[in-house]
Amino acid sequence: MSTDTIEQPAESHAFQAEVARLLHLMVHSVYSNRDIFLRELISNAADACEKLRWLAVSDPALNADGAPLEIVIEADPDGRRLTVSDNGVGMTRQELVDNLGTIARSGTRAFLEQANAAKDGAAGQDGASKDGGSKDGSRLIGQFGVGFYSAFMVAARVVVTSRRAGSDEAWRWTSDGQGTFDVAPAELADAPVRGTRIVLELTEDAKDYADEATVERVVKTYSAHVPVPIRFAKAGE
Ligand code: ADP
Ligand code: MG
Repeated sequence: MSTDTIEQPAESHAFQAEVARLLHLMVHSVYSNRDIFLRELISNAADACEKLRWLAVSDPALNADGAPLEIVIEADPDGRRLTVSDNGVGMTRQELVDNLGTIARSGTRAFLEQANAAKDGAAGQDGASKDGGSKDGSRLIGQFGVGFYSAFMVAARVVVTSRRAGSDEAWRWTSDGQGTFDVAPAELADAPVRGTRIVLELTEDAKDYADEATVERVVKTYSAHVPVPIRFAKAGE
């Protein structure tokens, strides 16, 4: 069934200009607290689960497998990778393209404006903290909804494999955050049954995030009130 799709070549897309600027900020890690990337990925995973729960009220077939909604984290120090998976609503090919790179989200522009203001302030100009000094990067990231891209604070490459609930296709989004991203069909056997798997290929200086104890601390600190269960992957899962 999937043989005709896997022959399709990967399509390369340019990030929308403001997204590219934002990514540049992330890759060059202007923010001191990188931990918050995980909060952003977990919050997206939880949103996807809540969305599925809501859609399944009118279309129960969407979660016909009956699997409990959950977020699964896998820390792989040998491969220097961190994986965050959810069995929420997932994304179609078009949603991957639109949500992770092409559509200029209003939040991205607002974030860039605030980040620039904060930077000018740090350079010694007056009046940068009109809201009482809350313009640190981690708060801005959450506030303006540019969360996904914060993965590039710690990852040299991000691979997102997603299967939209009810779809018989899966797609893979890949990027090093340097201006373009690729989208290609993924084999179903290699994709979540439903939902999204995000693999971060960590940079050398972020390799601690492949350590389960570190990740557990970050989850406890920033994701304590997420309304979907979070667990670590079992060996061999
Ligand atoms: P926000 O969460 O504020 O919308 P993000 O940058 O964190 O901004 O995410 C952008 C979009 O990408 C989300 O709105 C959602 O549509 C999509 N997305 C990101 N992660 C997931 C996921 N795990 N499952 C489904 N959709 C996702
Ligand atoms: Mg988000």
